[in-house]
Amino acid sequence: MTFTSTTHVPNADLPAILRKVFGYDSFRAPQREIVEHMVAGGDALVLMPTGGGKSLCYQLPALARPGTGVVVSPLIALMQDQVSALTQLGVRAAFLNSTQDFDTSRATERALATGELDLLYVAPERLTTPYCLQLLSRTRIALFAIDEAHCVSQWGHDFRPEYLQLELLHQRFPDVPRIALTATADPLTRGEIVRQLGLEQARIFVSSFDRPNLRYTIVDKTQPREQLLHFLREEHEGDSGIVYCLSRRKVEETAEWLVARGIDALPYHAGMDGDTRAAHQARFQREEGLVMVATIAFGMGIDKPDVRFVAHLDLPRSIESYYQETGRAGRDGLPADAWMTYGLADVVQQRRFIAQSDGSEAFKRVSTAKLDALLGLCESAGCRRVRLLDYFGEASRPCGNCDTCIDPPQTWDATDAARKALSAIYRTGQRFGAVHVIDVLRGQVHQRVERWQHHRLSVFGIGADIDEDAWRGIIRQLVALGLVAVDHQAHGALVLTGLSRAVLKGEQPVQMRRTEKAGRGKPRAAKPAPTGLSDDQAAVLERLRAWRRDEARAQGVPAYVIFHDATLEEIARLRPRSLVRLATIGGIGTRKLERYGEALLALLDA
Ligand code: ADP
Ligand code: ZN
Repeated sequence: MTFTSTTHVPNADLPAILRKVFGYDSFRAPQREIVEHMVAGGDALVLMPTGGGKSLCYQLPALARPGTGVVVSPLIALMQDQVSALTQLGVRAAFLNSTQDFDTSRATERALATGELDLLYVAPERLTTPYCLQLLSRTRIALFAIDEAHCVSQWGHDFRPEYLQLELLHQRFPDVPRIALTATADPLTRGEIVRQLGLEQARIFVSSFDRPNLRYTIVDKTQPREQLLHFLREEHEGDSGIVYCLSRRKVEETAEWLVARGIDALPYHAGMDGDTRAAHQARFQREEGLVMVATIAFGMGIDKPDVRFVAHLDLPRSIESYYQETGRAGRDGLPADAWMTYGLADVVQQRRFIAQSDGSEAFKRVSTAKLDALLGLCESAGCRRVRLLDYFGEASRPCGNCDTCIDPPQTWDATDAARKALSAIYRTGQRFGAVHVIDVLRGQVHQRVERWQHHRLSVFGIGADIDEDAWRGIIRQLVALGLVAVDHQAHGALVLTGLSRAVLKGEQPVQMRRTEKAGRGKPRAAKPAPTGLSDDQAAVLERLRAWRRDEARAQGVPAYVIFHDATLEEIARLRPRSLVRLATIGGIGTRKLERYGEALLALLDA
């Protein structure tokens, strides 16, 4: 194993390192402060959304400080790609985890001991072994970076027990600065990170959690698969993306269904054998244009910058989950879609999960509150982003880049319809599900209605002027608003709640969002912000992508490790004719210029 030497910067001129090594002209908002704080030897906790640029916050200080930066990360499957990406920049990087053989480990350990590494990625279970700690105690360490720091949280679903031992870094190496990073925003998790990692003295850097390049869209669920297919074909032909489903079976079925319709899709869930799962993840990570249909088991380990969409066929359980899952799209800052289909069955299902969970009453209360907040987002007639950010305590203004901003939904006074629905539920004995209640409202006579003599009720047919889809939308919103509950002990019967009374008595008006007609949903106002390239530029971009694909294949690395899409787009737009001009483009540092500059110029000349 050989280690290339880094571009050495004599003093800690941080903007110079940023330009020379990473190829960027400026820091993003909090990066500069964080980097300076680290270089000066402080501890930090960084809360920044996915795609915000967290890696630079420890990579750059590791280069500017003497010694090796040690990065703790649970994402073993990504370490090879992370190291490849750094090596491309001329940074001396390596990793230690259980996937490599003995000789490779030993070579890395030797390089570490002799000070030949700028950055070392280590799995937490490896780091906390006496052997590894011994090794580190003989090494000059620039800093410790604890990535995915929310893994210390015992309440989150990314909990890693080994993370609880990381406090020992502080005890064993009190003089080495530490930086913990996460994209998880909530204050509870933040508190746990501080406590568990002993970061009471650390400076906390909180970024805005807005992801302006993500377009949020939530459509009424009518024919979910068809809606998905339409979305994929119309807006994301040939793009990489993730489709989230709740159950393993649905993952399998959806993936098969998409493949049968010519979409390059793969399944991923925790019930698959480990090898297949790893192979699917690796393909998604490395190839372009794959659609991964997955349960949330496909999560934290996705570090692909060019995921162009995240689609939900089922409702997540909270805004936190929705934010995290959708956040995997558009890390590279280019336009990406967060798209979801949502219907009555989703509300019923999530409520049932909570009711039937064996958690404590307190747990159920918290879960219900979290679900209600998410339903509020789904039913919102106002800007989705404003709602989302508000949930994380951030004030904002209507974004212009979500479905409700682009195509504001109509709201209507649904007080009368709500009263009719509540009466029908009450008069039929609070023993029936939505289908039957809607039949009664619409005055549909059939066996079940007759058997229960419901055609004789005063409520029979009082809602005949509203069609079935619209009634489904109304009932969904009643359940979402907590005006109707679903009794899971009684096969999903709709029942009244404490809040129903005021509406029934006409004391409280109800506003609702008008639901879309059945079918594919409205055509969208526009495709996600176009890249704005001319035909000529687009042709150049195609050539650049083909070149990148060949290069990536020859080197056995993912395409984005060679250059990100944003870099290729800038090249296509500016068409630089010299190395000097090429060097001004974002993402082209000294090493990449040396390595690829001539080839790019030749290609642009052709
Ligand atoms: P995170 O780990 O927070 O999800 P990354 O560190 O992967 O984010 O960075 C996201 C993207 O932003 C990457 O493509 C990275 O190269 C780019 N990036 C980071 N910092 C800058 C910067 N100062 N200027 C331009 N691009 C940047
Ligand atoms: Zn908006």
